[in-house]
Amino acid sequence: MVEKRIDELINIINEADYNYHTLDNPTITDQEYDKYLRELFDLEEAYPNLVRSDSPTQHAGGEIIDEFKKVKHQIPMMSLSDVFSESEIEQFDERIKKEKVNPKYVCELKIDGLSVSLLYENGELVRAATRGDGIVGEDITHNVKTIKSIPLKLKEKVDIEVRGEIFMNKKTLEEINKKRIANNEPPLQNCRNAAAGSIRQLDSKVAAERKLDSFIYHLPNPLDYNIHTHSEALEYMKHLGLKTNPNNKLVNNISEVLTFIEDKGEVRKDLAYDIDGIVIKVNNIDDQQKLGFTAKYPKWATAYKFPAEEVLTKLTDIIFTVGRTGQITPNAVLEPVIVAGSTVKRATLHNEDYVKAKDLKIGDIVSIRKAGDVIPEVVEAKKERRTGLEKEFVMIDECPMCSSKLVKKDGQVDYFCINPDCPARKIEGLIHFSSRNAMNIDGLGERIVEDFFNFGFIKKISDIYKLENHRGDLITLEGYGNKSVANLLDAIDESKKNSLEKFIFGLGILHVGEKTAKILASNYKTLDNLMKASIDELVTIDDIGEIIAKSIINYFGNNDNIDEINRLKEIGLNMDYLGAEITYNDNFKDKSFVLTGTLETLTRDEAKEIIENNGGKTVGSVSKKTSVVIVGKDPGSKYDKALELGIEIWSEDEFKEKI
Ligand SMILES: [Zn+2]
Repeated sequence: MVEKRIDELINIINEADYNYHTLDNPTITDQEYDKYLRELFDLEEAYPNLVRSDSPTQHAGGEIIDEFKKVKHQIPMMSLSDVFSESEIEQFDERIKKEKVNPKYVCELKIDGLSVSLLYENGELVRAATRGDGIVGEDITHNVKTIKSIPLKLKEKVDIEVRGEIFMNKKTLEEINKKRIANNEPPLQNCRNAAAGSIRQLDSKVAAERKLDSFIYHLPNPLDYNIHTHSEALEYMKHLGLKTNPNNKLVNNISEVLTFIEDKGEVRKDLAYDIDGIVIKVNNIDDQQKLGFTAKYPKWATAYKFPAEEVLTKLTDIIFTVGRTGQITPNAVLEPVIVAGSTVKRATLHNEDYVKAKDLKIGDIVSIRKAGDVIPEVVEAKKERRTGLEKEFVMIDECPMCSSKLVKKDGQVDYFCINPDCPARKIEGLIHFSSRNAMNIDGLGERIVEDFFNFGFIKKISDIYKLENHRGDLITLEGYGNKSVANLLDAIDESKKNSLEKFIFGLGILHVGEKTAKILASNYKTLDNLMKASIDELVTIDDIGEIIAKSIINYFGNNDNIDEINRLKEIGLNMDYLGAEITYNDNFKDKSFVLTGTLETLTRDEAKEIIENNGGKTVGSVSKKTSVVIVGKDPGSKYDKALELGIEIWSEDEFKEKI
């Protein structure tokens, strides 16, 4: 009896959820809904063994995970190429027609959220994953289960992967922010950030409160379901109970695409959610397969991006900041204004030439936009709105922090403060040293370094390792306690063991980035060897040019630097390269690897060495015999080939996990 009633209630509520959240067409009142849901909750509480996996109560969240598990996509989740103008859209169409395809297109709204892959087995949601780098994403099933427009059970018992977008509605963001402001919490910046932040919660209760929504727009394996067009795929997914966007439209040619874009551009502001463009897809699946892929994108689809929103505001001042290398950067101080969903108060103006080319004056009304929708940028001054009271921009000739004379080298655009004792440079240098990619000292972030510098606890790198002497002072600081101080001191102590490349990068030698540091460390093995190297010797190394070599020689030619290095040696920092000490094993026995694209943390030679030390071999080109293709940034045609032949593909992270 009870079981039957539970089944009945689940059917009623799931149907009501579907009508309300997926079809946007409520069929019962809120009171009725609450009544049924309460009854179901009570029954499930009394009979926990009767809780069904597709029960609507499972949307409430509650599952808490320790960390996000990595998930490998069976078919890579590629991103789309972007186009920004009518003529680029027409070129897209022409390229397709050149391949003897005469396409119909499906136009879709490009929702500003984050993409998700949903895996259903026998009709039940078993896994949801983020896109990640396209090859490996993160398992977010516990949070996705809280989204009411994503069914826990499909209307048919199929095994299927579908993909779509998770997003937050504008109204939901508004409501959440009202509450946050009332609770003295900072408001969430915009719908996309809010959605991304919600989906990255370990506690699914939080995600449930965020009331996320979804649209499903892609079926990676249509032929497996005997589906031959994208529009049928959308219909099929809708039929399964998934939420598809009612604005999707099948059109006959590119001029109808342009009309669609124009129409939607006009109603964009009235939509319940943010969109940033229109996605255009070739409808016929055979045509899609004929067109294929480039290294990064499908050739049968593209995303038109609406022009970035430009907003006017006042340039109230131009201030200067000093970087780690002493580089001086002018920054626009703006009357706060909301651009693309978040408040903008500052924008970098890069250098003197940039400000002069734009002819900016203090007091100007300027237009602001977000480049790539992220970094605020001053587009231009509205000269017609000048009143005559605007002030000319004058480049400073003294450091704003230490007042020493700035230096500009011949042929360069940037000014530098070259005072090695400049507090701004020192603070930036210390922040860099402890940053994640350098010495990775957890708990020693920007603000804390600045505070400790100002309190006099840390003036130079070696002082970090003497912070122990200030333990008593630290514990009394606001926001600190025994535990956090102990954690910080542990992290500092732990960093002494870091491999040489992290230390070299942390020193902040001009032009020596993370990768160069790695090359130097693996070539010289110890800091002493590197310090003895001559310019002639340095430039024989691949990737080390004369500018870098000179900078290194310069750095180690400075007595203050040598004194500091000696102090650090005495303190017991490791100055040897540990990367070479790879344990030999046969993880990769009989496997052949191909590398393509730029790896971010390893050089090619290192990757090869690791493969060999693990019993594998590296070959130059992809064939059927290739076991694995390791893909870095901007991969070449080898990646295409791997996709075509169905060879196993690893990202750099994945590669590192396997070793
Ligand atoms: Zn200075």
